[in-house]
Amino acid sequence: MLLFEGVRIISFAPQAVSEPVDVAVDGARILEVGSALAARYPKALRERAPAYVSPGLVCAHNHFYSALARGLTVEILPSRDFAQQLAHLWWRLDRSLDESITRSSALAGAADAVMSGVTAVVDHHASPELIDGSLSVLREGFETVGLRGVLCYETTDRNGKEGAGRGVRENIRFAREVDGLRSEGREPLVEAAIGAHAGFTLEEDTLSALGEAVRSTGRGLHTHAAEDRYDASDSRHRFGADLAVRLDRAGCLNPKSIVAHGLYLTREEMELLNEREVFLAHNARSNMNNGVGYNTLLPGYRYSVLGTDGIGSDMLEEAAFAFFKHRDAGGLLWPPDFLAMLDRGNRILDRYFGRAEGSKGDAGGGALRFGRVEAGYAADLVFWDYDPPTPLLGDNLGGHIMFGMTSRSVRSVMVNGRFVVRDRIPQFDAQGIYAEARVQTRRLWRRMEERK
Ligand SMILES: [Zn+2]
Repeated sequence: MLLFEGVRIISFAPQAVSEPVDVAVDGARILEVGSALAARYPKALRERAPAYVSPGLVCAHNHFYSALARGLTVEILPSRDFAQQLAHLWWRLDRSLDESITRSSALAGAADAVMSGVTAVVDHHASPELIDGSLSVLREGFETVGLRGVLCYETTDRNGKEGAGRGVRENIRFAREVDGLRSEGREPLVEAAIGAHAGFTLEEDTLSALGEAVRSTGRGLHTHAAEDRYDASDSRHRFGADLAVRLDRAGCLNPKSIVAHGLYLTREEMELLNEREVFLAHNARSNMNNGVGYNTLLPGYRYSVLGTDGIGSDMLEEAAFAFFKHRDAGGLLWPPDFLAMLDRGNRILDRYFGRAEGSKGDAGGGALRFGRVEAGYAADLVFWDYDPPTPLLGDNLGGHIMFGMTSRSVRSVMVNGRFVVRDRIPQFDAQGIYAEARVQTRRLWRRMEERK
């Protein structure tokens, strides 16, 4: 058992900062939060506690396959629009991934994430030349670093029917792999979703196979939708239905489903997603980088969450960008609204890792819950060294995060009750991971040159 004494709890939604309290962690969960806990638990290991503790941050949409795309030196043809950007850059990159590059991308992505206080990443993976088993390679990277995750493979028809079939099968295979761990009574660190690239690269038969996979595995679909105007209009032209309606008809929308972007979904589609309790992952920086526009309906989504879409995993930075872009677009939301979106990423974890009381795989402590520093919640925690130049009061937390508090203040990070970063020292071989990543990046560049 570990005991942290006299630490203030930061809560993101509603935003709050507590008086100093003691936090006892036992195994994967928080055992108790209160005062004078050292007297109650004299045998607990007393940890040096920094000033603040908060729930771990969640990145609700990411692509670790692009972790090595930073500083890409490969010659890329200029693009007129988003479709060309996919063809010239991203689809050339994902086709160049082999097992070693995928492994290295997962490790480097996971290392970066935990060092910025992120304890869970919802990943959307593509590697068309390595589909079978790719999610297990990714899982190994998450587990080596100690990062929690929800993984899926981006099924698509853009590489032919065989590739599409392999994509669906890899998602099902991986969900079964996770189910196998649970049936052995283990609590896996990595869960499975059913992945799809985007409506415009999915024919009806592939989409219905994905709907069947959603039903048979008890998971949700994780897909891009209406990232660009073309995806929305293609759905109406080729399939005679709005995107969300198409996904719903195939049985792909449920409370475990995650739709990324959604810039060009209509108000009716937004209402359908809300009704089905589907998450809408907003990726402000990525949208700006791709010049695709802005999701003006963002305030209307009940289950809006924040993702980076492959631009690292720094979620305080992402939240700040989401806020600034919203201000730039003339929106009316305030910093606490973006902290609520950040916090809501935990509902994805609740829905994937939570189990009904007393169900199989439940270690006896009730359903695993996320996102609060309270007894019974998962011990996914960030300890902060933040020493603010202005008072941090609780109801001004949003202002601190948008205008000054950054991941620079992350001191220690715990996932599932285990330190992954302790007193700023990674508890995994970070130097080795980055050195190998630089070697694999040079291989990636060569392979991209071969795949023009
Ligand atoms: Zn994405």
